[in-house]
Amino acid sequence: MQTEAELRVDLAACFRLIHLYGWDDIVFTHISVRVPGSGHQFLINRFDLTFEEITASNLVKVDFSGDEAVVRELRVNPAGLVIHSAIQENRPDAECVVHCHTQAGIAVSSQRDGLLPVSQQAMLVLGSLGYHDYEGLVLHDDEKPRLVKSLGQNEYLMLRHHGLLTVGRTVADAFKRMYTLQRACETQIMAQSGGAALAVVAPAARERLREDVRRVTKGNDGALIWPALLRRLDRLDPGYKD
Ligand SMILES: [Zn+2]
Repeated sequence: MQTEAELRVDLAACFRLIHLYGWDDIVFTHISVRVPGSGHQFLINRFDLTFEEITASNLVKVDFSGDEAVVRELRVNPAGLVIHSAIQENRPDAECVVHCHTQAGIAVSSQRDGLLPVSQQAMLVLGSLGYHDYEGLVLHDDEKPRLVKSLGQNEYLMLRHHGLLTVGRTVADAFKRMYTLQRACETQIMAQSGGAALAVVAPAARERLREDVRRVTKGNDGALIWPALLRRLDRLDPGYKD
């Protein structure tokens, strides 16, 4: 099990990578990781920092219950608290939760049929994708059970008209899933903008793809890419570790 100090570095790295890939939205989204051993606390970003300002030490620790005074003092986005506490409380395997407001993600989430099997990356996602209907800003505790139900046991969630969310046992797995989902959305919008009728992949080939990927990566694809991504960050700016 990773220590809190190790998780802080991985989580800070995740924010820097989201910024590097251009998927951030000034200060308006959030990523969390459960604190080991605590049972009811998670680390999340402050609401007043852009993602390239986030470091291991300026992440804040909040309780699932999200006491309002504490949240104000820690400067955490209240919507972030609702979304992350709902999932962290109800999905013990979702150690890390990544949430983004990318334009491609919102665009696909607004399409009635959602993500289509038009790319290899979409097919990786489609076996484990939920949808959550838009209810306004996610500020109210009464939305939590519906959010948890929409996610179900899936690894990927589209928040209709709002954005994307992925979960993972590690920061690396949740990041890798966001990468795959985002790429799938970008590709779908590009394919549709071409204007031609789209061919879709048959269900048997989709299932075979997922089996092959499981066999090749042994369900460990986050761990496969994470050291290389950290080296990329280190070459650019190792300050995320501070
Ligand atoms: Zn959001």
